[in-house]
This record gives sequence, C-alpha cells and structure tokens, in this order.
Amino acid sequence: MGKLFGTNGIRGVVNEDMNIELAQGIGKAWGTLLKRKIKRPKVAICTDARLSNHMLKNAISAGLLATGCDIVDVGLVPTPTLQYAVKKKGFDSGVIITASHNPPHFNGIKGVAADGTEFTKDVEDEIEKIYFEKSYKLADWKDVGNVSFWDGSIDLYINGILDAVDAEAVRAEKFHVVLDCGNGAGSLVAPILLKKLNCKLTELFCEPDGTFPGHNSEPLPENLTELIKTVPKVKADIGIAQDGDADRAIFVDEKGNYIWGDKSLALGAKYATRKKGGIAVTPVTTSSCFDDVVKENNGKVIHTAVGSPIVARVMIDKKAVFGGEENGGLIFPEMQYCRDSAMSIAKILEIMAKENKTLSELIDEIPKYEVYKTKMPCPHDKKEIVMKNLANQTKNDSGVLEVDETDGVKLYLKDGWVLLRPSGTCLLY
Ligand code: MG
Repeated sequence: MGKLFGTNGIRGVVNEDMNIELAQGIGKAWGTLLKRKIKRPKVAICTDARLSNHMLKNAISAGLLATGCDIVDVGLVPTPTLQYAVKKKGFDSGVIITASHNPPHFNGIKGVAADGTEFTKDVEDEIEKIYFEKSYKLADWKDVGNVSFWDGSIDLYINGILDAVDAEAVRAEKFHVVLDCGNGAGSLVAPILLKKLNCKLTELFCEPDGTFPGHNSEPLPENLTELIKTVPKVKADIGIAQDGDADRAIFVDEKGNYIWGDKSLALGAKYATRKKGGIAVTPVTTSSCFDDVVKENNGKVIHTAVGSPIVARVMIDKKAVFGGEENGGLIFPEMQYCRDSAMSIAKILEIMAKENKTLSELIDEIPKYEVYKTKMPCPHDKKEIVMKNLANQTKNDSGVLEVDETDGVKLYLKDGWVLLRPSGTCLLY
C-alpha cells in the first residue's frame, strides 16, 4: 500500500502527483469513511490563495458529494479560520486545500476532524485504505450531496480571537505593526484583526496572490528582507510575517532583528505558565530554552514526536496550557487546538502590552542555546536498524545521561543534547 498523507496532509506538484483524479478519489474515500458513522455528513471546505485551488476544491468536492456528503464552501480563508469554524459551527469534518509555505506550483489537501484538530494518523490510514482498495460507497442518485456557500467564517474567527485575548490592553498601546502576509491567505484576516486591535498598520504583500509575487512563502530571514528593513525604518514596534496558509507566524523586533521560532514559542510558553505553571507540549526537536522557561515557572514539559497534530492531541489529553512547534506554529488551548498565526499575533501583542516591554526586551530574557542542524543520507529501509543500534550502543555510555526514543534517538548529555531523527517526509534522510 502506498503512502499519501505526510506530516501535514497530502502535498504534491499540481497536475503531476497532485491531480484531480487523486483529489476526487480522496473525496470519495473520505466521504465513504464519514458515512459509516454519520447519516448526512456536513463538510466545510476552504482554500488558500493558490491558482490550482478551484481545480482541486471542485475535484475533492465532487468525490464527497458522490458519497452523499453535503459541502459548505467557506471560500479563501486561513487554515486556522476553517479549523475554528468546523469546531464552532458543528461541521462533521473540514477540508483545506493548501500547500502551506511550499512554492506556487505545489498544492495539497489537509483534513480536519469535527473538533477542529487536524486528522490523526488513524483517520488518514483509514482514508488511504479505502482509496487504495477503491472500496468507495457511492450514494444512490437521490442521496448525492448539495453545495452551499457561507462567508461568515472570518468574522467568527476574528471575534473568537478578540474574546480569547486581553484586547483592551492591546488597544491601549496603539502599536505600530509592519505586516507581511506574503500574498497568502493571512491577507484576509490579519489586517482586519490588527485594525480591530487599534494598531497602526504598514502593509507588505497583503493582497492574496497564488503566484506569491512578494517573496517565497516560507517565513525565513532570506524571504523577509523587506520586512526586516521596514520595521526600524518606519519606527514600528513589531514586524509580523505569516506563511502561505497562515497557521504560522514569525516576528521581527523593533530593531529589525528576525526572531527565530524557538524564541517566540518559548515566550508564549513562559507567559502561559507564568502564574500557575501547568503542562506545555512541544516536539523533541525544540530548543531547551522552551524547557527552561516552563520549569522556571514550575511547569512541566511533555515532548512528543514531530508533527503539530501529535502536539495538539497530547495537549488535549494532558490538559496543557500551551504548546507548539519552533517553526512559528504556536497552539493556544483557550482558542483552539491547532497552530494559529492570528491568535499568535494577538497574544504576542498582549504579552508586550501587559509586560510593558518591547519585543527585543522580552526575547532577551529567553535563555540562549546554540543549535546546529544537518542532514545525512540513510537508505529508507535501514533507518529503523540505525536508530535501534544507536539507542543500544549509547544506553550504557557514561557520558549519556538519558536516552529518549520518542522520535528518533535523543541523547541527553551533560551540556546539551543530540538528536538523530529519521525524516518522515524524505526517503533519503
Ligand atoms: Mg502552514
């Protein structure tokens, strides 16, 4: 059996591996699975700003309709907006057509469960099984689904964020924000949210455009040169960038320094645990600065395998107060259990307002660690044995304080840690 779903849904090059046949088949498989438990499933669907969105949205919708699911098309919105709508409006499932930060010729399909979280591995496996076996169950002619349209998801989402943060504290500061939506789906939400938070806005690339004319949609320093330059030039308080589907946000301080995602994640964790401690969840790959700030607040860190759906699931199970990944994907349980860039933006502004500090001052308080990342080739079928051998060989090593096998092999040493992890998305590493 093949493998379609990766860490963040199915992704591929448009009209090559990501084509309408695949989308329609996934729609039929998804609908078949939903119909096993629900008589008349109601599925919300959205897209990011990519040019191939209508093609794939219509193909996957056709598959779902053929099995007897009703579709509610919410249009072009950020990923977390759709997730919030699914949870709040009681949809049975959600479909997101997006390839997140990937180049414009890519697109993808992401699944949302009824509680607004991303599909778990089990659900993805079941959909794949139906897809590869072609064991679709199509509806009788009079029971095929209908399509309706709903444009209320953005208002619902923005109001949800304004309720989940101290909006008045933010409004009082009248922050000057430079916002770079990277021509992505965030353009539909972030400017409105920031205006409602009484911010003065300088906008860069805030028009949705699936060719991404502003810059590559991954919010890395080399793609954010305009933002980094503009923040100090216009004397703004903060710079903000979002990835293509706006589930992740990256920040630039008032001096024009790019803030790496491990620092903003640690800042969120520090603030969430400041009063009563609590549990904070993050993958094993996250920098130790996260652990330090949480432990300082008498909180507890739970490390998971890599993947935001896994982090979200553990957060729910353990009633965590915060979680996320160091790529700018922060998860706030008071809003929803998924990465949420607009909520991250509102929260970072709230932290600046309530702590009465600039972003550079807040980031200076986060412990600093050197991080070195590299890749080494390893044949796919040898990964398991390499991991096992490494774990066995290091278990009795006196220099190794602890061996953690949550995801790959993480060796805790006296002055830091080393992690060797098989890539889940690349067959070579
Ligand atoms: Mg994304």
